[in-house]
Amino acid sequence: MICGGKKLSHWDNKDGYHIYACGDCGHGSVYPRPSVEELTEFYESHQEDVNLKEVSHNQAHDLAFSEVKGKLEPLGITGGNMLDVAAGYGWLSERFHNVGYNVTPLEIAPVFADHMRKTLSVDVIQSSFEDWKPSNDHYGRYDLIIMWQIMEHVLYPDEWFTKAYQLLADGGALVVTTPNFDSVLISLLKSKEGHICPPEHLNFFSVDSIRALSNRTGFKQSHVSCPVEGTDFFQEKLTRRLNSKPLARLTSRVIQSGLRAASLLNKGRYIQGIFIKKESA
Ligand SMILES: [Zn+2]
Repeated sequence: MICGGKKLSHWDNKDGYHIYACGDCGHGSVYPRPSVEELTEFYESHQEDVNLKEVSHNQAHDLAFSEVKGKLEPLGITGGNMLDVAAGYGWLSERFHNVGYNVTPLEIAPVFADHMRKTLSVDVIQSSFEDWKPSNDHYGRYDLIIMWQIMEHVLYPDEWFTKAYQLLADGGALVVTTPNFDSVLISLLKSKEGHICPPEHLNFFSVDSIRALSNRTGFKQSHVSCPVEGTDFFQEKLTRRLNSKPLARLTSRVIQSGLRAASLLNKGRYIQGIFIKKESA
């Protein structure tokens, strides 16, 4: 178990899998664990269909990027070598690249890897994170490692955190975002909530469980929160849908205060963790 706790209880079933929750840290795990072979087969037969021409200008991505960048700066992370783990088509790589980071995307899908080689002119590590064998000069090299919405897919989260720790420079940061098992929606809908989808998602983190994992794998500081999703973005979307600016503003405000409350209680939809390798000064 993620926290070393021993109080597991059955939480729900989904598509032939059992989901258990830890009574100590609230972490959710899928059983039986699929094998590496089963997962590889699964991902090869479920290729995502993305129109690469349309993805570069995405306002939600702009907001997510500036939010993370804004949180990293006070922690002393302002540039240097960045490893984007499971980079996809590279929306984060592109944005960090544009503000001067030396970006290395790691991505297994050839179509995405090729896309990033072309658009960013950077070397891409074409591999899964598990299978990638870093050379000696990779260890201690990275100022920033990002794992965006991927930890929930991973068979052995401990190994990912440990490997990230070894790859980070002394003051470097690991940024992880993942669905929140403690979210209001998951509490209400249980396994009917869309993020509960084995065997794609195998791990469901809570604020406590991701903190426990970072402590156990050596990280000295953890900054974990459930960020509120962007206000302006919501309002603009609603204005289009409701066809009225004042009504959209009001509705948006109501939704936002709900989201803010959920966020403060660590019950927002997503968890964002920033884990630093060394003690704070
Ligand atoms: Zn636990």
